Amino acid sequence: MSAELRDAEPRPVWWDGVETGPQTDRLAGKTRADLVIVGAGYTGLWAAIEALTEDPGCSVVIMEQGWVGSAASGRNGGFVSESLTHGIAHGEAMWSSELDELQRLGRENVSQIVEFVDRHRIEADLRMVGKTALARTPHQVEALRSAVEVYARHGEKVEFLDREAIRADVDSPCFLAGLRSYSGGLVNPMALVQGLRRVAEELGARIFERTPATDITRTGGGLTVRSTHGEVETSRILLASNAYPPLLRRLKAWMLPVYDYVLATAPLTAEQLASIGWSQNQGLSDVGNQFHYFRRTPDNRILWGGYDAIYHFGNRISPELEQRDETHLLLARHFRETFPQLADVPFTHRWGGVIDTTSRFTPIFGTAYDGRLAYAVGFTGLGVASTRFGAQVALDLLAGRETERTRLKAITGTAVPFPPEPFRWPAVELTRAALAREDETGRRGLLLRTFDRFGVGFNS
Ligand SMILES: Cc1cc2nc3c(=O)[nH]c(=O)nc-3n(C[C@H](O)[C@H](O)[C@H](O)COP(=O)(O)OP(=O)(O)OC[C@H]3O[C@@H](n4cnc5c(N)ncnc54)[C@H](O)[C@@H]3O)c2cc1C
Repeated sequence: MSAELRDAEPRPVWWDGVETGPQTDRLAGKTRADLVIVGAGYTGLWAAIEALTEDPGCSVVIMEQGWVGSAASGRNGGFVSESLTHGIAHGEAMWSSELDELQRLGRENVSQIVEFVDRHRIEADLRMVGKTALARTPHQVEALRSAVEVYARHGEKVEFLDREAIRADVDSPCFLAGLRSYSGGLVNPMALVQGLRRVAEELGARIFERTPATDITRTGGGLTVRSTHGEVETSRILLASNAYPPLLRRLKAWMLPVYDYVLATAPLTAEQLASIGWSQNQGLSDVGNQFHYFRRTPDNRILWGGYDAIYHFGNRISPELEQRDETHLLLARHFRETFPQLADVPFTHRWGGVIDTTSRFTPIFGTAYDGRLAYAVGFTGLGVASTRFGAQVALDLLAGRETERTRLKAITGTAVPFPPEPFRWPAVELTRAALAREDETGRRGLLLRTFDRFGVGFNS
């Protein structure tokens, strides 16, 4: 391994000082529950909390194949976004007539999360500091300038920062402009999972870790979910299994597991911090198709992730894919170029995680087994906040009720399916190359323009 990453521990910085690994027994023997949730990330935990808040008498079992927080929810960047549409520009392109309603629901979702975290005293360093999007090329500067009006049209005030203004805020020779938004914020993602777990258990949810749900069968009037050492009889199932091989075959066509990679530095000294400014301590990201996202941790490390989004042939997901020298070194090089004044700051952590990408960049919801199973999967790299909304949608569907959420096409419409292998991998690679070309040239090529026409894309 190159000297650059030699001392970087192969795990998320968020796991420092945290008890990781399973804390419960695995499910053994037979049990019964009114609701079985598959997956104990944010989606599954919010679903349990919402279901038990609505009906404290109902019994809820959560089956988790690993341990709570081991997947995306415990290892992400912690950007809390109000958007339910993978950004306002994508929302306007895809669902313009519903966008104002979606924006309102997204704002309410985040303010309810803030209120919830406060009420339950979840110590997750949740800070509503907003975010600045950064341009690195002249065409990105123009894109940011014209985005101001798009935001304004949908009631969100953002501020365009020219080169001088952005460098006065965060000093890098690479930033040519910025767009400051005051919505959303940052959170410690692992602490949020732990807080949600605590509340779910206090409300009565029974969580079984190391308990993969392996299949679903109809039994009597209900359903049975099997695992390796036990099974649960139930009347309702909620699939919150993110990018992992789904228990429902149809979901395979709609989702693509994509690896996203991250580095964290050692804590910056006061002098190093002063050399970059960043006094508002907000989230930052650049705006290419291949973008970096970066933020400070409470102890003033820089978390630096994104850019590469790697799909492995055959939808492969495996712990060994969480380390990728090529991508981690590329990220390290980009970091040094972005902040030359931090040339000596070592990287202390490196990790990766899997994202469930859909071709419309937003989750898909639906039901199976005569409405007794609902799914909420495909949050495409923007699920820290929207998973709560997604859990509510899935519960609406299970209850068979029409709500302001389920009336929206953006929510319950479906995504264009990805092709199966052996075509899937080359299709993704072709698209990645086209996206990289657009980042370089500022021109959207024929392939991407064709995808736009069908509302299809590839993102992380
Ligand atoms: C590196 C990285 C950075 C990210 N950064 C951000 C960010 O800054 N902001 C943002 O909004 N989003 C971000 N995301 C995305 C965000 O983390 C996810 O959208 C969100 O965590 C999804 O939550 P989830 O509960 O649906 O999935 P997960 O957290 O993946 O949970 C799903 C759970 O289901 C379990 N499971 C799967 N199949 C089965 C089965 N058959 N039986 C039992 N259990 C099963 C898995 O083990 C897993 O624990 C990032 C993701 C990654 C990987």
